[in-house]
Amino acid sequence: MSNATQLINSIPVDPLTGAISVPIYQTSTFVQEAPGVNKGFDYARTGNPTRATLEQIIAQLENGKVGIAFGSGLAAIDAIVKLLQSGDEILAVDDIYGGAFRLFTQVYEKFGIKVNFVDTSDVENVFNAITPKTKLIWLETPTNPTLKISDIASIAKVAKAHGCLLCVDNTFASPALQQPLSLGADIVMHSATKYLGGHCDLIAGVVVTKEKELGEKVKFIQNACGAILAPFDSWLVIRGIETLHLRVKQHCLNAQVVAEFLETHPAVDKVFYPGLKTHPNHDIAKKQSKGFGGIVSFSLKDDTNEAAVQFVTQTKLFKLAESLGGVKSLVSHPANMTHKTIPVEKRRAAGVADSLVRLSVGLEEVEDLVADIEQALNKTIQNKKNIQHKTVPANC
Ligand SMILES: *Cc1c(COP(=O)(O)O)cnc(C)c1O
Repeated sequence: MSNATQLINSIPVDPLTGAISVPIYQTSTFVQEAPGVNKGFDYARTGNPTRATLEQIIAQLENGKVGIAFGSGLAAIDAIVKLLQSGDEILAVDDIYGGAFRLFTQVYEKFGIKVNFVDTSDVENVFNAITPKTKLIWLETPTNPTLKISDIASIAKVAKAHGCLLCVDNTFASPALQQPLSLGADIVMHSATKYLGGHCDLIAGVVVTKEKELGEKVKFIQNACGAILAPFDSWLVIRGIETLHLRVKQHCLNAQVVAEFLETHPAVDKVFYPGLKTHPNHDIAKKQSKGFGGIVSFSLKDDTNEAAVQFVTQTKLFKLAESLGGVKSLVSHPANMTHKTIPVEKRRAAGVADSLVRLSVGLEEVEDLVADIEQALNKTIQNKKNIQHKTVPANC
């Protein structure tokens, strides 16, 4: 049975009424027959049937034992860090999601948890950076926004040999393309705000663990700290997941065409997309995932802030916004948006050029998307010429 069929078939029909859509249990508590005698639920922070259904679906999708749904991706990351103790260290991918960087360094460092950042796209770097205090290795693959790829299976072996947990933030790939637990990771997490939800209409996060015991620990932390996903948002994520395979397949097809087009345009300098043969870890991406995802980044030959701002304000179908993974195409300028708080030199060193533009390629007809990018690139060149033309007489 194909993955898509298996997924759609696994979404349960309501045993009480036969409703084909998962019911939304909008309740805070559950009536008990006698103290402690209930139908599996007592208080809705601890468990809610709608959320529980989502948790089962995502655990199955990621090939894990326990799924836990949170109020945001960052709440999911927060619960994982709480598995650690003061004095422990995290080894994290250097091109990490900005919110995870902020959480690790500005919240958890003051509780005595240290973070070391390395370029995990070379497994040797991971091996060399591990210390006896390293308890958690944190990967994103592909990363944001330079689409770096790390070899999950090789890093899992290093993690195991050193007795530390491996967590993969699988937001960019989605379980439709990549299942880190099957490659040896212990934990996988998602910002379900992105491809799992898929429609830019909610904020949510999920954690899935390979082992039951570790999952129970994360569940305990969630119940103790309270960062749960609401019933309606759980339902929205379930509805999003129903079309995950179909959407992701088309995101990949569209992104490949867009990336190949960008490579041919004279205004474009570098194109970052794991599906291009020019990507340094194209072979690893091909080995560990079923496709290359819907995110494409590129820099301009005119590597300036102004040129990038020209481009991102000229596109019509690609809407200028943070976030990704939805049906509608989005464009963002990391140097001015998501990565603005990172010091300029540090940002450039991490490969985020001033002119780097990130596209979340949506589900519009790909010819229309390419035409939109082409007209915006042409206008960017044209406007620059006009500006230069105007400034020449002034300088004379
Ligand atoms: C968006 C995102 C997050 C954070 O998720 P929220 O749902 O916004 O809290 C974490 N990791 C990655 C890779 C993301 O893109």
